[in-house]
Amino acid sequence: MPLFKMSNVVRRCKIIYQLETQFTQIGNRSETETGAVSTPIHLSTAYRHETLGVSTGYDYTRTKNPTRSLVEAAIADLEGGVRGFATASGMSAIQLVLSLLRSGDHLICSRDVYGGTYRLFADYTERYGIEVSYLDLTDPSRLKQAIQPNTAAIFVETPTNPLLEVTPIAVISELAKTHDVQLIVDNTFMTPFLQQPLVLGADVVVHSASKFLAGHNDCLAGLVVAKDEPTADLLTAALNNGGSVLSAFDSWLLIRGMKTLPLRMKAQVENAQALVTCLKRHPSITTVRYPNQGAMISFSVRDEVLVAPFLQQLRLISFAESLGGVESFITYPTTQTHADIPEQMRSERGITRKLLRFSVGIEASVDLIADITQALERAEQIVSPNNT
Ligand SMILES: *Cc1c(COP(=O)(O)O)cnc(C)c1O
Repeated sequence: MPLFKMSNVVRRCKIIYQLETQFTQIGNRSETETGAVSTPIHLSTAYRHETLGVSTGYDYTRTKNPTRSLVEAAIADLEGGVRGFATASGMSAIQLVLSLLRSGDHLICSRDVYGGTYRLFADYTERYGIEVSYLDLTDPSRLKQAIQPNTAAIFVETPTNPLLEVTPIAVISELAKTHDVQLIVDNTFMTPFLQQPLVLGADVVVHSASKFLAGHNDCLAGLVVAKDEPTADLLTAALNNGGSVLSAFDSWLLIRGMKTLPLRMKAQVENAQALVTCLKRHPSITTVRYPNQGAMISFSVRDEVLVAPFLQQLRLISFAESLGGVESFITYPTTQTHADIPEQMRSERGITRKLLRFSVGIEASVDLIADITQALERAEQIVSPNNT
């Protein structure tokens, strides 16, 4: 008897459970031989065949791996798609989605977008002639006239990074459908726990799973979900051709992280809401952006000179370049995540030198508030010592 029955690995639950239950149960009941609750990490790259023409469903790990299959099936279920794909990073997930385009195609993209995405698209424009237009998609009325005969896809990040602008996915998807254009949504900031773009009409979802989904700042991963079979077939072929798959160990780590996502997300959202109230009242802070959902906040300090001393004075919150983990991080988009976007384009979009991005973790909110308050106070003292 084969040790690993494929039907058990990719089996989908017939009963639709609540999202909390679906997240928690990823991988459980997948291993019927031993009953292992934590899914085994299948490191084998090769799979033995009983005889000619017979396969367990697994031949070679680039094509398919049992541990990876579990996380792929899980994200497909959570997002409401037909097939999931686990890749080595969020960027490789976006690159995988770009394999749906051809040279000469036109792509419409959210004006405010992750810096790495902008850099990848710029490279594709230069090398492969993919035309990219950046548009403020928070106002869908502008979209119609931007669609060209060669427009193949719309790439939406919502809420956007770092300005947290919200795009109405359902409205955009209606327009996309009328023009036979594919809608791709980067759902990194919300995760399927808070937003399910495919259910709202999108065709493809991508994630940097390195962020909220894995959640512990220890796993680089990407996920893609297709809503229809033809798209899923194209992605299956492209991922097998390119081979930027997620390793078995990282697939396990991602599953491990995803099990607690609902708990973490609820705590992070609660903390974020407490912090928004405090940041809005602070005299050293001029604007606070929070889309009433999620655990990401952007805020601007009164003066650019405060940025460096503020970041230096933080004792609890880390000045670091990522998001979504249990530990709170503050990022400076100007020199970090968005440094590759030309300065003028950045400032036109509102990514100023006063803007900071806050990924709120699961620490006690009073401690986070106290850290922000003391760091701002010290920063003010450093920039104008005579006022104290
Ligand atoms: C981080 C991030 C990416 C890139 O993902 P990696 O896992 O770092 O490769 C893409 N999109 C968004 C919105 C991100 O925050």
